[in-house]
Amino acid sequence: MPRKTFIAGNWKMNKTVDESVVLAKDVVAQVGDVSDVEVAICVPYTSLTEVARVIDGTSVKLGAQDVYWEESGAFTGKVSCEMLRSAGVEYVIVGHSEQRSYFGETDEAVNKKVHAVIGAGLHPIVCVGETLQEREDAVTDAVVARQVKAAYDNVSAADAKKTTIAYEPVWAIGTGKTATPEMAQEVHGTIRSLLADMYDQDTADSIVIQYGGSMKPANAKGLLEKPDIDGGLIGGAALNADTFRGVVLPE
Ligand code: PGA
Repeated sequence: MPRKTFIAGNWKMNKTVDESVVLAKDVVAQVGDVSDVEVAICVPYTSLTEVARVIDGTSVKLGAQDVYWEESGAFTGKVSCEMLRSAGVEYVIVGHSEQRSYFGETDEAVNKKVHAVIGAGLHPIVCVGETLQEREDAVTDAVVARQVKAAYDNVSAADAKKTTIAYEPVWAIGTGKTATPEMAQEVHGTIRSLLADMYDQDTADSIVIQYGGSMKPANAKGLLEKPDIDGGLIGGAALNADTFRGVVLPE
């Protein structure tokens, strides 16, 4: 079964509730009827319910940027999978490099979140990627393999098929530096082979692997043409609906 291209916007810590409604309406106007590409917007927690209303009845899906794995209780500041589900969320970003580097998110925490998200009937977007130092030290494959294996620890093949992986070289995020399509394809191919080893070829072939890191209209086509690049996780270029459209439907 061919993989459906999946473009997700990651708004990060941007947009008030009112600003989110404006941007979500613009996104709907630009790509709200696109059916051959899966489109999601991962908005701040505070904007989830309002954005859910705006995108209701369109093809645009709702995502969150993080979650906590416990079901409920005394975890001040945290938000559970069930809370996200009740707000209309379908996708949850886990293991983003900003969470890993600024807030100490570990591989173990990512794994707990993957299990919790799948358990709640939602779909994790599992982020992996090497730092500049790691690339220069030629340990990219080892780092990405460690992150993927840890994230999928004890995840069945059937559940793995409900997930998306986002390969985001940390040095390309928000920097304007993009991995070339060839560089990205190399790592995507490595991830796909690893998934085939961990599971089986059918499972590996069904998991969408997005690229993330300064993806924009000018480079989207070249990246998406590569056989193992199935979509994108878009930061800066997702904050403007015209630009976002240029990534969803690159010319
Ligand atoms: P960027 O961010 O497109 O602004 O580089 C991507 C991401 O961090 O998901």
